[in-house]
Amino acid sequence: MNFDIKVAVADSVKEKYRFDIEKDIREALQVVPLQHLTKLSKIIVQYEPPQHNANAMGSYFGNREGAREPYILLCAKNLMSCFPHHLPIVSKLAYILYLRDTLYHEIGHHHQRLTHGVKKERWEENAKAYSRHMQRLKYKQSFVGKIIFGMADFFRSKAAT
Ligand SMILES: [Zn+2]
Repeated sequence: MNFDIKVAVADSVKEKYRFDIEKDIREALQVVPLQHLTKLSKIIVQYEPPQHNANAMGSYFGNREGAREPYILLCAKNLMSCFPHHLPIVSKLAYILYLRDTLYHEIGHHHQRLTHGVKKERWEENAKAYSRHMQRLKYKQSFVGKIIFGMADFFRSKAAT
């Protein structure tokens, strides 16, 4: 339902990688409640990492970081750097995992700013938990994901008794 958010993938990224990153981002966004994206102006995918963190796969720029309109930056160079590019299926899986984990993590940062409900010391921990939660929702949408999570729940319930 949040298809009107702007997703801008740099031409250099489109030329370099065969993945349709915009499509995969929009697919990932399907499980994110619309109100968590309020005031988020855009999602940018560029090749180079942000200046303040050369290892970052993504970064959130809110009002505190000086952005007039909050946005998320994803960095293709780091997202794709550790893939076995000679193994296309493994690369595709790894790419989807990293992309979703990073995107949901940064949306988690946006959400905590919107709600003001999280102390600064807990921002990272909270964003990680937010990402895990969203990934879980997303994988439950697919048949294979449902089986994996169904099994995990089954064994957890056994362990609990
Ligand atoms: Zn973070």
